[in-house]
Amino acid sequence: MRDVIIIGSGPAGWTAAIYAARAELKPLVFEGDEPGGQLTTTTDVENYPGFPEGVLGPDLMATLKKQAERFNTEIVSERVDEIRKNDGGSFTVVSKGEEYQTKTIILATGATAKRLGLESEKALYGKGVSACATCDGFFFKDKEVVIVGGGDSAMEEANFLTRFASKVYIVHRRDAFRASKIMQDRALNNPKIEVIWNSAVTEILGVEEGRVTGVRLKSTTDGSTRDMKIDGVFSAIGHVPNSDVVKGLVDLDEKGYVKTDPGTSKTGIPGIFACGDLQDSRYRQAITAAGSGCMAALDAERYLAER
Ligand code: NAP
Repeated sequence: MRDVIIIGSGPAGWTAAIYAARAELKPLVFEGDEPGGQLTTTTDVENYPGFPEGVLGPDLMATLKKQAERFNTEIVSERVDEIRKNDGGSFTVVSKGEEYQTKTIILATGATAKRLGLESEKALYGKGVSACATCDGFFFKDKEVVIVGGGDSAMEEANFLTRFASKVYIVHRRDAFRASKIMQDRALNNPKIEVIWNSAVTEILGVEEGRVTGVRLKSTTDGSTRDMKIDGVFSAIGHVPNSDVVKGLVDLDEKGYVKTDPGTSKTGIPGIFACGDLQDSRYRQAITAAGSGCMAALDAERYLAER
């Protein structure tokens, strides 16, 4: 019987591991499908305190993992398939058919990039369609690409894509971005970026050719459509929480985020704590995720001490 199992390996999961390990709780971390989480798909992180020159997302995550390992965190590079509540208040965590018993669980499974939801997007995924500019931008040297979205991610990724692409069109469904002013300005001042306002991508063209050849755009103001030649389509339209594994176990809000008691990491189930983007649809920053990972480890430690 373990004291604590941590599920997820983003800033929240690793920070929880560092705190739990230093409290000698010998945490076990399941890294999941995307070790390091969303920061491994980003480039420069300039707003994580302690790095005045900025740090690359993957480097930051490697550093946090190393710090957790230094205090004897055990790591399993698998996803968790099931969590069961046992009689007596402990839990069974199932991964690849193997069962692990634990007194507490810290959920830190984060969130995943949303897709447009088009059949043609599915058919051409990896053939010119991507949700990760950092991963795939390199393949679009001197090509023209579209990026869908109006948040900070769309601005950041549009700028990043101009390192490779000859032209980047930001397609946004409204007439104003929701991105922060500084990020908007960077994109709007980039001569390789052009914004197509009030438009939605309703089809990605090129399924028959097996590669993206264009997009069908629909005006969100008058409903008119037009086709546009393009070589690649990136989406940066937000995220969905990775809460499937705890559906029916802990309370979720209407968007699927795990509900926690305000100001704590406590879910409705004693012994299960949640941190990071899985329970935060509002701030979603690496530093807030790390902070909430610390809270979850402290809450778990206190819960164990009280028992
Ligand atoms: P976001 O802020 O939720 O923005 C998503 C954007 O996609 C919105 O503009 C939204 O349009 C659009 N959208 C959503 N669903 C769509 C659909 N089905 N079709 C077309 N457009 C759709 O997500 P995000 O940009 O990923 O940012 C998430 C959080 O991370 C934010 O808190 C952000 O500040 C933070 N972030 C920070 C940085 C940084 O500071 N370096 C970088 C990246 C992200 P509407 O505006 O019309 O809703």
